[in-house]
Amino acid sequence: MNYYSLNKKAPNTTFKDAVIKGLAPDKGLYFPETITPLPQSFFDNIDDLTYPEIAFEAIKQFVSPEIPEAILKTIVEETLSFDFPVVKLNDNISTLELFHGPTMAFKDVGARFMARCLGYFNKDNTNEVTVLVATSGDTGGAVANGFLGVKGVNVVILYPSGKVSDIQEMQLTTLGQNIKALEVDGVFDDCQDMVKRAFLDEELTSKIQLTSANSINVARWLPQLFYFMFAYKQLHKTHKEIVFSVPSGNFGNVCAGMMAQQLGLPIKHFIASNNENNVVTNYLQTEEYNPKPSVQTISNAMDVGNPSNFIRIREIYKNDFNALKNNLSSFSFSDAETKVALKEIYDKYNYVADPHGAVGYLGSKAYLENNPKAHCVFLETAHPTKFLDVVEAVIKEKQPLPEQIQSVMGKTKEATKISSYDGLKSFLLK
Ligand SMILES: *Cc1c(COP(=O)(O)O)cnc(C)c1O
Repeated sequence: MNYYSLNKKAPNTTFKDAVIKGLAPDKGLYFPETITPLPQSFFDNIDDLTYPEIAFEAIKQFVSPEIPEAILKTIVEETLSFDFPVVKLNDNISTLELFHGPTMAFKDVGARFMARCLGYFNKDNTNEVTVLVATSGDTGGAVANGFLGVKGVNVVILYPSGKVSDIQEMQLTTLGQNIKALEVDGVFDDCQDMVKRAFLDEELTSKIQLTSANSINVARWLPQLFYFMFAYKQLHKTHKEIVFSVPSGNFGNVCAGMMAQQLGLPIKHFIASNNENNVVTNYLQTEEYNPKPSVQTISNAMDVGNPSNFIRIREIYKNDFNALKNNLSSFSFSDAETKVALKEIYDKYNYVADPHGAVGYLGSKAYLENNPKAHCVFLETAHPTKFLDVVEAVIKEKQPLPEQIQSVMGKTKEATKISSYDGLKSFLLK
């Protein structure tokens, strides 16, 4: 598959090149030249397919021929070595648990898939690649875990000091080897801006091959479309109007869901559930897109003031505002509302959600007010114990810690503090 830049000022390129570059030379995000819907028989027979088989069929067109089919099969099998269960709360609301991977957030799938693609592309050359990634919480850990020990790949993670949870910080600062963490005196947008600036810095990019493992990278972004198919497989017999409520930050996950829909998956509607970082909620109301500085919330992985993937969503709908609005609703919720929702989910359904999932639950409820026949699936994007302080304070019960969380606790943090772009640059050049 070839990819074009959404800035339209760079040549089209292969999947391999798009993965290695991350961003196009004109700084645009890459987008596939074509999207060919899967045959109806794929959806008719989905019950007979395993998750890796579904994933293989769904992603094949986007990665071939640069990744041969036999290799791709191995990559999806290794990537998807855990479960993606749907848990039903009531007749109208389910949750899709995306936190059963090694770092207990949905970003594990994209990170593991991308790491394996880069590992394959690097298999017989000695050109080192540096993966530069900004994290608002979960990307860092998932990327650190997914890329640990991958030959020829150095990983540098920027995270906002004091604005990620303790467990998230442990997950990204304690692995060592080819993984380095930079603790930035600032907010997530500062981290993201520094990463963008590094890509623009010709002095730097002439010396080292930089790529991104944020969802701007097609190999991180596209595998997320699997989730929507896995949920469909579990629900399609009992529910006809499936709506996904996606707790959104950079809008990579919801945009991947829209790609699944473009492939023919019968999804009725999407809900982008936001915390108080509500650029898109406002856009759908006013048709004015006004990025603004992010504000800190208890659903910190969604504290994004200028969502990088929104431009891909506009591309899917060919910049037709009404077409987008017909397919996407968006709601924004405060921390206070999120805490009430956490408590409600626990009291009513005996289910422990995390703050991001709780925002998704609230989005589902808001949508159902006017669409009572829908079945809303909110994505549980992280395990509740990643946000232990908030969750335990609200539901007033101690939570048992899963093995993946226990294994990072008490490890020694190693991070280099930086406060400006120059700090990042000199770190990369040394
Ligand atoms: C990254 C993340 C999100 C936001 O996903 P986007 O693809 O950036 O919209 C939501 N919840 C959790 C737990 C995350 O880690």
